[in-house]
Amino acid sequence: MQIAVFGTRSYDREFLATANAVHGFDLQFIDAPLTTLTARLASGHQAVCVFVNDVADRAVLEALASGGVRLLALRCAGYNNVDLTAAAELGIAVVRVPAYSPHAVSEFTIGMLLSLDRKIHRAWSRVRENNFALDGLVGRNLHGRVAGVVGTGQIGALVARALRAGFGCEVLASDPIVNPELLDIGVRYVDRDVLLREADIISLHCPLTPETRHLINAQVLDAAKPGLVIVNTSRGALIDATALIDALKRRQVGGVALDVYEQEAGIFFDDLSSEIIDDDVLQRLLTFPNVLMTGHQAFLTEEALTAIAQTTLASIADFAADRPLQNRVDLGGILGS
Ligand code: NAD
Repeated sequence: MQIAVFGTRSYDREFLATANAVHGFDLQFIDAPLTTLTARLASGHQAVCVFVNDVADRAVLEALASGGVRLLALRCAGYNNVDLTAAAELGIAVVRVPAYSPHAVSEFTIGMLLSLDRKIHRAWSRVRENNFALDGLVGRNLHGRVAGVVGTGQIGALVARALRAGFGCEVLASDPIVNPELLDIGVRYVDRDVLLREADIISLHCPLTPETRHLINAQVLDAAKPGLVIVNTSRGALIDATALIDALKRRQVGGVALDVYEQEAGIFFDDLSSEIIDDDVLQRLLTFPNVLMTGHQAFLTEEALTAIAQTTLASIADFAADRPLQNRVDLGGILGS
């Protein structure tokens, strides 16, 4: 089986090559992202493997299908970047890695929140300059604050548990599916509007769907508690970044930790330190002292990369052997998770 692996970085190669020892697939690592232009590189391959910012829209899928590709394997959980209707029409099966290490993302989420709230990132750069002054570094306790967790699936449930049982926050949750284990520790499920209005801290863990796109928008930010802290390690487009900048300028929002950004494709995962970046929204966000940003890093642990590589190649092996595809994403699934 020949597999074209798009958008590969050193860590992808390392962990996929290790997991491939038991399969012996012919992996062709391609640095470039999957686009209509690069899709032809997959010609002659039966499967392609892609990540979060590779776009598999209809045009790309048509190019892949005409080159003989029959399987699209996402080495991530989210699949908002794939036109599932087009894939189904073109006879391309789509698989993903539904859960590789929710701990990796949930721990990073808490890390970002603590760093932002206690200004650890700012203290670190000060101390490196021998500036040991504490002025401007006053933070706030997590204990006793109201944290709203939107989406209590695998990752959100761990975050809600850490905030409630670990830090003693009052935790409000919003999810169409109630997790009874969270109820047992005192997490309260409320309407999303109530959560967005009453929370001191909002952490986003729902998938990106047409319904959740710009869930954090100008209206929500206006109605939110002044000083609101927002953490987003889910998908960038859950937040309207322009409205967020406006709310930051008005001091309505007290702090933001972002591991994802709506227009991150073509920017994140690359070293652009010598480039001029045209995205004024991203550049403005990076100027705020109370915005902490990382480049879609929450998943990046050894455990998660191992699990991603193993699950991806196991799905491809199932496809090659014509076995049922456990991790298949179909049109029914797009609304379900
Ligand atoms: P999951 O499917 O286990 O959980 C998602 C939860 O969101 C489900 O319980 C679902 O019922 C709920 N949900 C769906 N629509 C909702 C809505 N409108 N309002 C509130 N809740 C809603 O997914 P997960 O593994 O916990 O992942 C959550 C998200 O984190 C993924 O969608 C993915 O985009 C993102 N993610 C980011 C990284 C990263 O590196 N930053 C890594 C993995 C996953």
